[in-house]
Amino acid sequence: MHDTDVLIVGAGPVGLVLAVDLGQRGVRCTLIERKPAPQFLPKMERCNARTMEIFRRMGLARKVRAAGLRADVPMDVYIVRSLAEPPLLHHPYPSVNEARRAIDRCTDGTLPLEPYQLISQYTLEPLLKAVAEALPSIAVKFGHEFLSFEQSGSSVTAHVRAGGVTSQIKAKYLVACDGGGSSVRQQLGIALRGEGDILRLRQALYRCDELYSRIPIHKGPGHGRHYHVADAQSTFLIMQDSTQHWTLHAVVDEDAAMARQFEKAIGVPVEYEMLYVGEWKQNLLLADRYQQGRVFLAGDAVHLMIPTGGLGMNSGVGDAIDLGWKLEATLRGWGGPKLLASYELERRPVGERNVAASRYASLGRRKWRGLWRDLDELVRVAEVEQRKSNEMIGAELGYRYEGSLLIADEPGGPEHQLREYLPNTWPGSRLPHVWLEGHAAIQDTLGPGYTLLRLGGTHESGDGLEQAFNALGAPFELVDTAEQNARELYGYDLILLRPDLHIAWRGNRAPHDPKRLAAQVTGHLAP
Ligand SMILES: Cc1cc2nc3c(=O)[nH]c(=O)nc-3n(C[C@H](O)[C@H](O)[C@H](O)COP(=O)(O)OP(=O)(O)OC[C@H]3O[C@@H](n4cnc5c(N)ncnc54)[C@H](O)[C@@H]3O)c2cc1C
Repeated sequence: MHDTDVLIVGAGPVGLVLAVDLGQRGVRCTLIERKPAPQFLPKMERCNARTMEIFRRMGLARKVRAAGLRADVPMDVYIVRSLAEPPLLHHPYPSVNEARRAIDRCTDGTLPLEPYQLISQYTLEPLLKAVAEALPSIAVKFGHEFLSFEQSGSSVTAHVRAGGVTSQIKAKYLVACDGGGSSVRQQLGIALRGEGDILRLRQALYRCDELYSRIPIHKGPGHGRHYHVADAQSTFLIMQDSTQHWTLHAVVDEDAAMARQFEKAIGVPVEYEMLYVGEWKQNLLLADRYQQGRVFLAGDAVHLMIPTGGLGMNSGVGDAIDLGWKLEATLRGWGGPKLLASYELERRPVGERNVAASRYASLGRRKWRGLWRDLDELVRVAEVEQRKSNEMIGAELGYRYEGSLLIADEPGGPEHQLREYLPNTWPGSRLPHVWLEGHAAIQDTLGPGYTLLRLGGTHESGDGLEQAFNALGAPFELVDTAEQNARELYGYDLILLRPDLHIAWRGNRAPHDPKRLAAQVTGHLAP
């Protein structure tokens, strides 16, 4: 007897998203977390557009926005000497309201359906925990520490300590979302490769109620999200979601210096409280494997990135979403033996690309940071280099599951771009966003299983695929969209989508062997 179907270790954002996804699918799972409760500690603060699309599909986007930064606040980035002096450089980025207006007008598929959202990790985690706890098939257990595990051909048994007592949890699958120091990964002997411990910085969290309303101070910068200080300590001030909390990163020798560093960055006296100071390390690391037997690894357990570019948690959310439906399909019996094996094939290359994107952005940052003695030169270089950190739409939306067993790939394919997103329907890609009549988003019209999209009024039959999916017991529906704009943008009459809205196959004629195609995309076909 199994105690649960899926045991998730670690209730950071990735473990929580996976738990909610599985819970919404009605999969029985247990989430264990060694901390007694979510902590009020600063970490990530930006869910990118792709994560927000995922949250929309999970019915969470509104909740996340309601808990996060107000939609009218600009997301601008400044380089300053202090907030009390005119900025050296200003890169404007739209507020959520402004970004939404641009998305509303966009008809060429270049923009995502959802704008990004600034929400502090310490706000997001309790929100996701509450959602997970309300789902009947999930047991959420904080104060439970994973110690070790063993696996057989049919189960994984984890040893867990809670309140000084050790017990066992037997599951069909284990997913390690236990962060950069992952004990599960260490027990499996899976190595992390790349550059570790590149730079150590101190980070502090402050409460300062008056700062936001006092910006701009004299002739200083306006409201924004990031204020980089051009100095020898790489000082970096970040607005958190309440606008009353701020974090500051700096290379300084002792905790006490973080108070002085905050005061210097503001440049005028303000009332504030320093709530936390800690040290963190920059890493660019990727795990050799994302799976061993019945154990899967996701999030920081397998990829560690420098936050420059904001791809860390967002990549982990992508891992969780790729794994969720595959676990469900396998547990319900319609997923074939290759389905779970595709997780590593699909997500590890994305992890690798995002680690590289983070390296690219942080090298750009380092270039202008080193020029703090020559401010004119710093501004000239930063005008180009700083954009690398904040303009990563290609990495966010343009990834494609190339070489996956589940994708009816075609030879060639568009190049992966980091900075630019070119909408396309190449198999393996995310379905580009398009508005339908009545301003309905196509993504909102698509159900939780496989979908055959029939576009532009085609008369090609979907019956063959429907029968093939039915024979496998896999969820499938046909969706007809006669609108020309969707047909023009997608370039094909027929598009087969997976449950995660990645494109599995496309064509203008019904597939000549629908059984084979259905078997491939559900993981029943050997390569
Ligand atoms: C300063 C900073 C800024 C960042 N900004 C961004 C950003 O803007 N956007 C972005 O996408 N990412 C950002 N990141 C990265 C982001 O914070 C991480 O990628 C994210 O937290 C990873 O989530 P995770 O769930 O995989 O791991 P974690 O958040 O590390 O969670 C792992 C969880 O597992 C638990 N755990 C560990 N071991 C055990 C055990 N043995 N038993 C039980 N539980 C265990 C831990 O307590 C923890 O709760 C930032 C990171 C830093 C440091």
